[in-house]
Amino acid sequence: MAGKRALLVLAHQEKTSFNYAMNEAAVEALRQKGWEVTVSDLYAMRFNPVVSRDDITGNPHDADNFKYGAESVRAWKEGRLSSDIVEEQKKLEAADLVIFQFPVFWFGLPAILKGWFDRVLTQGFAYNLQSMYDNGHFQKKKAILSFTTGGLQSMYTPTGINGDINVLLWPVQRGILHFCGFQVLEPQISYSIAHTPPEKRAQILEAWQARLGKVCEEKPISFVPNDHFDLSFPGGFVLRKEVVEANASNQFGLSVGQHMGKVLPPDTQVKAGSTRL
Ligand code: FAD
Repeated sequence: MAGKRALLVLAHQEKTSFNYAMNEAAVEALRQKGWEVTVSDLYAMRFNPVVSRDDITGNPHDADNFKYGAESVRAWKEGRLSSDIVEEQKKLEAADLVIFQFPVFWFGLPAILKGWFDRVLTQGFAYNLQSMYDNGHFQKKKAILSFTTGGLQSMYTPTGINGDINVLLWPVQRGILHFCGFQVLEPQISYSIAHTPPEKRAQILEAWQARLGKVCEEKPISFVPNDHFDLSFPGGFVLRKEVVEANASNQFGLSVGQHMGKVLPPDTQVKAGSTRL
C-alpha cells in the first residue's frame, strides 16, 4: 500500500495498557505494508480538549458577543486558529485512513478524544451545511473506531443490560465521522479486555494486525444515502415521502437513527452492508 498515509489518534494515558498495545500493533502492521504512519498520542501531547476563545488568535470579530462557531470559521479562513489545532488539521488533511484508539468511557469517548473532535473538526475545515454526510469534506478518507470496553459483549446486545452497541456507535460514527464525510469502516471492538485471558489478548492483537494488512479491501458500513432525504429547509431534511412509503411495511427501520418507529435493524453500525435500503 505504498504512498498511503494513516493517522492514528490514541487516547490512553498508560503505555502498559491494552489500548497502547493495539496502537503499537497498528503502527507496526501498517508500516509493514508501506503506509506512512503518524500518531497523535493525545495524553503524551497533553492535548487541550477544551473549546475556548483561546482557539482563535488575533482579535475576535465580535468580542462582546463571542460565538465560537462563527469565530472559528472566520479564523480558519484567515489562518488564525491556534497552532495546536492547525497541526492536527494538517495531519488529518494528509491522511487516507484515520484510526481512533480508545477505551470506552461512560458509553462514549474519553474527554480528551471528544475534545480533539470538538476543536479539530472546525466548521469550514471539516464540514459545512452544504456538504455533509455523503457529500462531506472527508469522503475520500476512511476511519475506524478501535476501542476496548469494561463490559462483556453480551451486555452490549439488544437484550443486554448496557443495550445495543449499535446505539452507542451511532453518535460517533454517524454524528461525527460520517457527518464529515468519512467512509466508516467496521469498528474494532475489544470487549471486556481486562477479563480476557492473556492468550486471547495476543490473538486479538494478531487479528487486528491481519485486518489492517488488508484494510484497503474493506467496504465501509452503509448509511441511508443523502438522496433519500429532502435536503431543503422547507423540506426539513427528513426522509422523502416515497422512501417512507416504500419502507412502511418493513419489519425493521432503516438505521439506528432513521428507525421510523420500528424495530432497530441488527448490526448496521458494526457490519458493512447491513443497512436496509
Ligand atoms: P488495561 O487494563 O490496560 O489492559 C487490559 C489487560 O491487557 C491488562 O491485563 C494488560 O496488562 C493487558 N495488556 C497490555 N498490553 C498487552 C499486550 N501487549 N498483550 C497482551 N495483553 C496486554 N467500560 C464500559 O464497558 N462502559 C463504560 O461506559 C465505561 N466507562 C468508563 C468510564 C471511566 C471514566 C473509566 C475509567 C472506565 C470506564 N469503562 C467503561 C471501563 C474501560 O472501558 C476499560 O477499563 C478499558 O476499556 C480497558 O482498556 P485498557 O486499555 O485500559 O485496559
